[in-house]
Amino acid sequence: MDTDQLHAMRHSLAHITAAAVQRLWPEAKFGVGPVVDNGFYYDIDLGERKISDQQFAKIEKEMRKLIEYGDDFERFTMSIDEAINWARENGQPYKEELLNDLKRSGTTAARDLDADELGLATDGDAAVEEVSFYKNGTFTDLCRGPHVANAKDVGAFKLLRVAGAYWRGKEGNPQMQRLYGVAFATQAELDEYLERLEQAKLRDHRKLGKELDLYTTSQLVGVGLPLFTPRGTVLRDIMAQYSNQLRQRHGFEKVWTPHITKKELYETSGHWAKFGDELFLVTSQETSDKMALKPMNCPHHTQIYASKPRSYRDMPVRFLETTTDYRDEKTGELGGLNRVRSLTQDDSHVFARPDQIKEEINNLLAAARELYETIGMKLRVRLSYRDDSDGYLGDKGLWQSAQAQLKAAVEANDLDFFEEEGEAAFYGPKIDFMATDAIGREHQVATVQLDFVQPERFGLEYTTDDSSKRQPVMIHCALLGSIERFLSVFIEHTAGWFPFWAAPEQVRILTINDTVLPYVDEITSILTDTVLMKPVKYNEVRFTTDSRNESLGKKIREASSMKIPVQLIVGPKDVEAREVSVRTQSREEKVTLSNLVAYLQEL
Ligand code: ZN
Repeated sequence: MDTDQLHAMRHSLAHITAAAVQRLWPEAKFGVGPVVDNGFYYDIDLGERKISDQQFAKIEKEMRKLIEYGDDFERFTMSIDEAINWARENGQPYKEELLNDLKRSGTTAARDLDADELGLATDGDAAVEEVSFYKNGTFTDLCRGPHVANAKDVGAFKLLRVAGAYWRGKEGNPQMQRLYGVAFATQAELDEYLERLEQAKLRDHRKLGKELDLYTTSQLVGVGLPLFTPRGTVLRDIMAQYSNQLRQRHGFEKVWTPHITKKELYETSGHWAKFGDELFLVTSQETSDKMALKPMNCPHHTQIYASKPRSYRDMPVRFLETTTDYRDEKTGELGGLNRVRSLTQDDSHVFARPDQIKEEINNLLAAARELYETIGMKLRVRLSYRDDSDGYLGDKGLWQSAQAQLKAAVEANDLDFFEEEGEAAFYGPKIDFMATDAIGREHQVATVQLDFVQPERFGLEYTTDDSSKRQPVMIHCALLGSIERFLSVFIEHTAGWFPFWAAPEQVRILTINDTVLPYVDEITSILTDTVLMKPVKYNEVRFTTDSRNESLGKKIREASSMKIPVQLIVGPKDVEAREVSVRTQSREEKVTLSNLVAYLQEL
């Protein structure tokens, strides 16, 4: 099934859902029933009657009957006035409202509803004169289609959930019930999707964040401002260190900038206008300066670049800073670590000559590849280019050369890629990295963004070999993106079983009884002196000892529920043999004390 067929099939199932609901409860009034990711929904007004999960089976049974009966989907048209009459006579006030809007102007109906998604016929600003309907069996619906030919042609489906939704998404409008379903071409694909959904619930980083004691939130601190516990902070620091060390190896130098700045910096950069109400404002009591918490670091870094004359021989200049930015996101959109108001970016900026773009992109791609290989996530990249419209700033020739250099670098790195025109930012083309997690979901992680505008706004320059002045190109790059968002992906990708190098507590020693304690002292002094080098340099082993007077079974259960990657079990026999029993997520084995360090370094 191609995308169009899948779309038609899901949309047909939305009609069949509504048809089934109408057979069960003829008083049902229908809103809209569009296709969404992996499925469809229908907004239904059933007055006082509430659809509950328990009724899904009943509705699905009715849907199966309709599918088995196999009515054709028949398309026909009506004049707009006939259609309005039809809606009125059939007691469908929501359809009547939509039709009246369409009669006035095609775009009115389209404005607060995505008309295309809804399958409504709209024709720019013009009033609509004729609308199309689709009929399957006794159910008729205003719709632009397309549909499958026959009800039998739909694939495997399942109703998933029901949620309240205001008519046209506006508070104050009647509250409808939004009935969601998922649908795939085959039962196997549907089963796989449902399994993934189940997996996703178990891996939810908000659930694991609490269970593994990684972060917390406080009403007193505020929404979207997570607080990291000791364990979560180790994880954050390790990731930040890894990203920093990786970039330092690729020629970046660490810089530091303050978290507040004068308004004028962002007026010059253009962020004052762009970020507008997302800025947290700060008032100085000493000066008349109007200040803001930084929403990003690029403008600060331009000022370090501009702090001294640069020659073509100094280029490229590469800065890195892993630092927290503040954005006053809408509180309704905040939840977990996915979207926060204090986001820590592993930010980097390259100031390069235009002829160095390809090499610099290559450098960043190599770093990103290494990072995601270590993390065990497959990468795919999207190249976002400009289109022919006038909304882009900077020289067109520069754009073309830059886009070609981006593509050449991606190809040279043997990365899976796809290209999209019209997706670039107005100030330059970019590369977005999409990483696939353990249950097949794709997340946007790192980005490499070219920028022709900020160097101009800040009047950045370098001296060329003929002593003339030229503007550098700026390349923004974050490998992890925001550490908070990255952690939400990483926690769910690993289901909390972090790789050994990243785990907050890497090793837990579990004693069988107190007679082994002198031997445990030997083990701990070995661990204390051990420094791990991969992939983050100079990390001491993070370990604890559980020598409580509890059963070994209980100690193992606790260590496993905290997902400690290495459990060292020590009993009297181990003391005698000068070894330890190593227990990891996937195996159990004996390791001699003299091999312990080598063993850990291999993990
Ligand atoms: Zn930047």
